[in-house]
Amino acid sequence: MELNWTPQQNMLLRMVGEFTNQEVAPYDMQIHADGHYPEGLLDKMIGTGFLGLMLPRQYGGADFDPEITAEVVRRMAQGNASAAVTLEGHYKTVEQIIKFGAQSLQDKYLPTATSHIFAFGMTESSGGSNPMGIQTTARKVGNHWVISGNKIMITNGGLATVYCVLAKTAPDELSVFVVDSSMPGFSFGKQEDFIGLRGVPVGEIVLDEVTVPADHLLSQQGDGMLVGDSAHDDARILMGAALTGIMEHALDVATDYANERKAIDVPIGHLQSIERKLADIAIGKETTKLLYQRAAALKVAGQSYSEEAAMAKAYGSRTAVSACDDALQVLAGYGYSREYPLAHLILDARAMEIAEGTVEKMRSAIAQSELNK
Ligand SMILES: Cc1cc2nc3c(=O)[nH]c(=O)nc-3n(C[C@H](O)[C@H](O)[C@H](O)COP(=O)(O)OP(=O)(O)OC[C@H]3O[C@@H](n4cnc5c(N)ncnc54)[C@H](O)[C@@H]3O)c2cc1C
Repeated sequence: MELNWTPQQNMLLRMVGEFTNQEVAPYDMQIHADGHYPEGLLDKMIGTGFLGLMLPRQYGGADFDPEITAEVVRRMAQGNASAAVTLEGHYKTVEQIIKFGAQSLQDKYLPTATSHIFAFGMTESSGGSNPMGIQTTARKVGNHWVISGNKIMITNGGLATVYCVLAKTAPDELSVFVVDSSMPGFSFGKQEDFIGLRGVPVGEIVLDEVTVPADHLLSQQGDGMLVGDSAHDDARILMGAALTGIMEHALDVATDYANERKAIDVPIGHLQSIERKLADIAIGKETTKLLYQRAAALKVAGQSYSEEAAMAKAYGSRTAVSACDDALQVLAGYGYSREYPLAHLILDARAMEIAEGTVEKMRSAIAQSELNK
């Protein structure tokens, strides 16, 4: 199902499709093998205006709504999931500054969001699923906050210049602050060597007494979980979109192969066992698409979308892993070869059972939401 896009939205989506086909998809295998983007790709993404799609016009953005932003992420993921996840990490971070930032903070950083990548750091070695386990602290000194601690496994970590970071402002109180990489005391640490999404830099930032003005606090002191949960909700819609794009990619590879490869004298696509796999992949990608589009539509309508966004990611991630595995089996020996992208698509999808909250935590949140209805 395609939504009824306006002519302006259709123009954008055509442009994204062309960009993905020409600049992203041809490098998909290379990105996985090399573990980084080809030189110039990010500059081209910036030059095409992708970073500012959802940014208000007053800051140089295009002011597109969450439904179209998710669609852009889906189409990018058809070419390469890492590129889509770099956008996802950026969009969800910028959005929290739009939602929760003081006017002075927005005026300072949002104009840079069309040309600089942003990132959100919650995880630490002592706390991933458990935010209260973090050790980063922010203490008030006059009209400033002094932040110290390490954030690990940050999507776009090392690439981004602006970071939202979760810190303890009291032993049982969390708050989110905006820091930037030019600040004294800010440095980059270890880069992860992850098995999938290998184009996205995922790394550590080290904050050693980084001092920020009071207006770098997002929302109110103690609202860390409010901001963090909001970032997760926004990210999960985009991850549902990225997962749909991954499944579309896998289905394309599998159907092309099933039309060509012969079993005795008919293409294998005519075998019931192969039809079953192709149908399951198609059902999985359509269902995930419906889930993320529903969450995005609720968001546009100003309604709660937290549960639906969690469903899109929780359902979409396991379904995509299974769909890409089915696609691999359609190609059998060739599917298991690095000549084809199916192994890396499985690994790309697998990341989304962990990033932006594990599926276990999301199932728990979905169940609690149902119990409280
Ligand atoms: C590709 C990628 C990108 C990432 N990007 C970011 C980023 O941009 N910013 C960021 O801050 N972090 C990021 N992360 C880190 C990610 O958010 C954490 O890995 C995740 O939250 C889980 O934390 P953990 O690894 O410490 O696992 P743990 O929290 O130690 O969990 C271990 C296991 O226990 C289960 N578990 C723990 N607590 C509960 C609970 N309460 N209920 C049910 N099950 C539970 C988990 O589901 C998991 O199976 C990224 C990770 C990956 C893989």
